Amino acid sequence: MIMQITIKLRFIVLGLLLATFTGFSSVPEDGRFPKDPKVAVIPEYADYFKDSYQASRLDFLIRAEVLSLKFKGTEKLAIAVPSKETKELFVDVFYIPALKNSENLLVISCGTHGVEGYAGSAIQRMIMEKYITPENLENTGVLLIHAMNPYGFSRIRRVTENNVDMNRNCDATADLFNNKNEGYTKLYKFINPDKRASLGSFQNRLFVERAILKIVKATMPVLRQAVLQGQYQYPEGLYYGGKEFEHQVIALKPNLIRYASGYNRIIHIDLHTGYGARGKMHLFPNPALNKNVKEGTEKLFEGYQIDWGDSKNFYTITGDFSNLIGKMLPEKLVIPMTLEYGTMDSQKTMGSLRSIQNMILENQGFHHGYKNERSERKIKGWLQEMYAPSSPVWRTMVMEQSNELMGKVFNRVK
Ligand SMILES: [Zn+2]
Repeated sequence: MIMQITIKLRFIVLGLLLATFTGFSSVPEDGRFPKDPKVAVIPEYADYFKDSYQASRLDFLIRAEVLSLKFKGTEKLAIAVPSKETKELFVDVFYIPALKNSENLLVISCGTHGVEGYAGSAIQRMIMEKYITPENLENTGVLLIHAMNPYGFSRIRRVTENNVDMNRNCDATADLFNNKNEGYTKLYKFINPDKRASLGSFQNRLFVERAILKIVKATMPVLRQAVLQGQYQYPEGLYYGGKEFEHQVIALKPNLIRYASGYNRIIHIDLHTGYGARGKMHLFPNPALNKNVKEGTEKLFEGYQIDWGDSKNFYTITGDFSNLIGKMLPEKLVIPMTLEYGTMDSQKTMGSLRSIQNMILENQGFHHGYKNERSERKIKGWLQEMYAPSSPVWRTMVMEQSNELMGKVFNRVK
């Protein structure tokens, strides 16, 4: 009896501990997500994760305040993002100039895909704690952009309030919005069903089979490219890049030019989650604009596998954030890098189908409603777990790899 109680108590304590660590209460345990690799949890790393946009932002602002007392010439900018729902959405920018020579500007941004900001913000705040030091800043300025899409961050969505995918909405000119993605048009109905979202529906239960039929017809790379590159025609569809720039892109542009202009080399690392092997950090840049950029990237990230978007099994996108500075300042050497932290093993066919199915269901539910409470809870839970996993193991792995990478980057640009 005593033993039973002890075991029960252990479970309760463990549950409570997990709940404190994770901040999220409902973890879908339905075999939909790959198991975590066997890695020991490091509480110091897991602690960087906050359970809301507001808490992440507050910690970012407090750390920025502390650093601005320590270093001269820092700048803070809070770009208010208009919303019909709240006045509490901001893109926060914190700039720390190089102390001696303006050689490199290291730009690190998060939350371009709202919900992915939980991990990105945690990484930024670790950088603020560990890497903003007089030695690292001698020849390098740092520009941190917190929550490019604060609406999605706070509402657990990838996109903005206008259904815009921020990573398809950035460019030097508005020509971007004239892009026509014809492959997408062919697949529109399949990826954007117009009924209420339901897990039990015929359409949904046969999703994998229907997707495989399409893959047989068109091949996986063609489908992947058509769906993921971005589209500017369907405002309710997935991967919609908008008809115009989102407010924060317009507000940020002149500031990016102002900060970047004084430096010889700019490195922009945009932090994402959801693509690739679970718990693994992937370097996933869009194809390099020129030879210097490619060589610069390979040198800076030497020792890491770089998955260029135009190589086999990957895809290129239009309007991505990490290429914006390079497009606005073509005379500068700008090295863009997208980091992805995998959650669903989406490098495998089944993982990638499950990922797109999660996104289809959530987008469908948002625009057309949910058939029942269970479908809504499950679908929203899946989206959250796919982009902001509650697992302390996953969180530890994200921070461990980011810490190692940032150590190398700061050393190599010294
Ligand atoms: Zn992303």
